[in-house]
Amino acid sequence: AKAAGGGSFRFYTPDMGEASRARMAMQSALRHALERGEFEVYYQPRVDLRTMETTGMEALLRWHHPVLGEVPPAQFIPLAEEIGMIDAIGHWVLQQAAVQAQAWCVRFGRAVKMSVNLSARQLRSRRLMQSVRQALQASGLPPQQLELELTETALMDDPAMAATLLTELKSLGIRLSVDDFGTGYSSLAYLCRFPLDSLKLDRSFLQIHPGDVSPWRLAEAIINLAHTLKLSVVAEGVETTEHLHFLRSTSCDEIQGSCVSDPVPAAQFEAFMEAGI
Ligand code: C2E
Ligand code: CA
Ligand code: CA
Ligand code: CA
Repeated sequence: AKAAGGGSFRFYTPDMGEASRARMAMQSALRHALERGEFEVYYQPRVDLRTMETTGMEALLRWHHPVLGEVPPAQFIPLAEEIGMIDAIGHWVLQQAAVQAQAWCVRFGRAVKMSVNLSARQLRSRRLMQSVRQALQASGLPPQQLELELTETALMDDPAMAATLLTELKSLGIRLSVDDFGTGYSSLAYLCRFPLDSLKLDRSFLQIHPGDVSPWRLAEAIINLAHTLKLSVVAEGVETTEHLHFLRSTSCDEIQGSCVSDPVPAAQFEAFMEAGI
């Protein structure tokens, strides 16, 4: 088999390995996933650490394929970027999430923030601005209730381009957040040149061995520095009461993780809200 750019295989040949065959099958399945209605947006609550009130939710895409089963986004998002499907998929997620958020604002009788993930490739797309504008218009969601999450690595890929785009996005009145903070090589001082509202502390900061507290101290320092820079902080991957206790000893603003709820389908999210948790 011939390796094409980016390590992807272009031709199907008998000597092709099992892994690349599976990959080709997944690529062609992904091309039809949208039109076949195989995608579903799940939502994970984000709660205020002090009051434990749900302040919003993150939209997380799920792909249910009749044969491949549940393909994790960490697998299909990079593939969608490679085959040029990410714009269409990203646009769909944004529309779904915005409409859902507006419906929930009405149903729950208060403003909730909807966070939507953007990949590096989407950031480079000329269609992004238009897509965000359309999602806001079609849903009627107030812009300050929409938040876009961009990973640190995506922002640092081309910082000058990112700065221009983020300024443009910010002019729509939406919120901007840096995702997976602490996994890349950027400094907060540098990131603060971007018009960001919040920072999501990567869950790796909470995953430590008992007795080894230094990543927690580091997390605390990041939270404090973020506040100095006027960024609110969301801790992600909060799983245990131990995590919760630690975070309560800091000035972290919001949390997300399995200790509150895993990402769930919209109907289940409503049940969660109506149970008053
Ligand atoms: P992310 O944005 O960092 O999302 C958080 C991931 O952590 C999600 O994985 C979520 O299900 C998982 N998670 C939530 N709570 C916990 C916890 O307590 N412990 C642990 N260990 N994990 C937790 P998921 O849903 O598999 O998504 C993986 C990544 O795929 C996301 O990471 C995001 O980068 C990307 N992704 C998901 N949906 C979309 C989308 O609609 N568009 C784009 N561009 N990327 C997406
Ligand atoms: Ca995210
Ligand atoms: Ca994250
Ligand atoms: Ca991530």
